[in-house]
Amino acid sequence: MSDGYWLGIDLGGTKMLAVLYDGEFTEVARDRKKTKGHEGVEKGIRRICGLVESVLQQHPPAEGNLRGIGIGCPSPIDVERGVVVEAVNLGWKGVPLRDHLTREFACPVSVLNDVDAGVYAEYQFGAGRDARGLLGVFPGTGIGGGAVVAGEVVMGRLSCMEIGHVRVMPEGNLCGCGRRGCLETVASRLAISAEAAKAAFRGEAPYLMKQTSAELPKIRSGVLAEAIRQGDVVVEQIVREAARWIGVAVADCIHLLSVDRVVLGGGLVEAMPELFVDEVRQSAEASVMRPYRGTFDVAVARLGDDAAVRGAAAWAAHRQGVSIPWKGAPSATIEAEASADAAETEGAAEATPVAELEEGA
Ligand SMILES: [Zn+2]
Repeated sequence: MSDGYWLGIDLGGTKMLAVLYDGEFTEVARDRKKTKGHEGVEKGIRRICGLVESVLQQHPPAEGNLRGIGIGCPSPIDVERGVVVEAVNLGWKGVPLRDHLTREFACPVSVLNDVDAGVYAEYQFGAGRDARGLLGVFPGTGIGGGAVVAGEVVMGRLSCMEIGHVRVMPEGNLCGCGRRGCLETVASRLAISAEAAKAAFRGEAPYLMKQTSAELPKIRSGVLAEAIRQGDVVVEQIVREAARWIGVAVADCIHLLSVDRVVLGGGLVEAMPELFVDEVRQSAEASVMRPYRGTFDVAVARLGDDAAVRGAAAWAAHRQGVSIPWKGAPSATIEAEASADAAETEGAAEATPVAELEEGA
């Protein structure tokens, strides 16, 4: 790996995070700020520039040594032009972010979708670093998705892999996107919490009722997991059903991409890792065509909140033809991080080797 520094930015709906990495992808500086997207595009871009400057001041690279900037954004991205197409959370539409940042910092800038950035980080440094192809699925308020195939993040004219909007119910419920029956309508945290609220209200989930009075905003991932531990059987059925639907959509992605690993992440999965990994794996295995059975495994994402920022920086490096040294050959640092993660989420489901899947199939 050559000299120089790479800067990643994770532009979130409420906060933005910037991290500067050296040529070995070791972090050397970081800072975060509120996004305040609704103050408008111009102010927003100024806040991003201010954040970058603050990080660069902490550890100023020598002249010309900032090799590139990668920024992950909560929006579909026009890939060729580096334009944020429509960031609903920020109220931004058609923002030529790459051109703005290139002018400001005089280095190459890569703009990508934030979920794609997170999946790329898992592929390079996390749960997918020994995988050939990787699909990431992140159930939250919606359901984010991204994929890496043959070393490249799967993108077309726009960023894509919108697994949350794969239609699983022909005449299903209305989705936030305006269509009906998308995966999000049956398997997002919002969908799960709404079903759980109904069950609590009907008296079928006594623990959840006691904790939340069946109020939707209070039914978050942690309390769902606790309700299952405390014996609210119906809540467990609801979550398992949702995870099975994710498996059905994953199966279709396997047909399209034939990745050998699927990583699941986000708050729901972190709260109930085994449940999600088991159900998604079983359901996807049962749904794929025979030749694809046993060709993929399912694991929990490892990088948590830093995934998008790290992935954005790594993608900027990749776009300039710089290879990340430990893909497939983990460095000591990464191994140490991984085992620390594993210790934190003790009992978390690990990737199931393909061989085991074959036995079960
Ligand atoms: Zn939709």
